[in-house]
Amino acid sequence: MLRGGIPIGRLFGISLRLNYSWFIVFGLVTWSLTTQQFPLNFPEWSLAMSLVAGIVTSLLFFGSLLAHELMHSVVAQSVGIKVNSITLFIFGGVAQMSEEPHQPKDELRIALAGPLTSVALGIIFWAVYLLVEGHSEFVLAISYWLSLINIFLAVFNLIPGFPLDGGRVLRAILWWRSNNLRRATKIATNIGRAVGYLFIFGGLYFIFEGLWLNGLWLALIG
Ligand SMILES: [Zn+2]
Repeated sequence: MLRGGIPIGRLFGISLRLNYSWFIVFGLVTWSLTTQQFPLNFPEWSLAMSLVAGIVTSLLFFGSLLAHELMHSVVAQSVGIKVNSITLFIFGGVAQMSEEPHQPKDELRIALAGPLTSVALGIIFWAVYLLVEGHSEFVLAISYWLSLINIFLAVFNLIPGFPLDGGRVLRAILWWRSNNLRRATKIATNIGRAVGYLFIFGGLYFIFEGLWLNGLWLALIG
């Protein structure tokens, strides 16, 4: 599924790609911001204004995802692991690394780099939000949403379900304590599987409650 993708550039020797499924989620995010999020909070905005804000927010959101993956990759390269490409697709971003980390502390560093980037972005967008308060509703709306979504991304990725970042942190700790990568991977994968089932049931529950889009997304991730 991730073989196909449009190259959009190169950074730090890593090829950046957009998978075709990315366009679906880009459209959905823009649509939900334009027709629901912004009109709800700013009913006096014209449709054109909501649409421009929606597109700018979506682009910055995917820029934030890219920054998250890029920081995983830059840290990986710094400990000697080659990263061939980063692909953005329907569930976020994925970095294609040439090999597994060599030691637990490398894995820990690589895994934490992404969520820390998202937290930093959340704080930066929150600072922008505070700065423009009372000056620009347009920038205020965009920065507010981006601040929340980046903090959400950091928290979500730290759920200890391998292969999420939190699962990698868990594997690094298990690996460090047992000095046995295979055993650590097995335990982390089993916990990851349990978290996956929780996502599926949680998603089905949301669908049942009428939040079908959030529910479907969560269930499919599971
Ligand atoms: Zn990550």
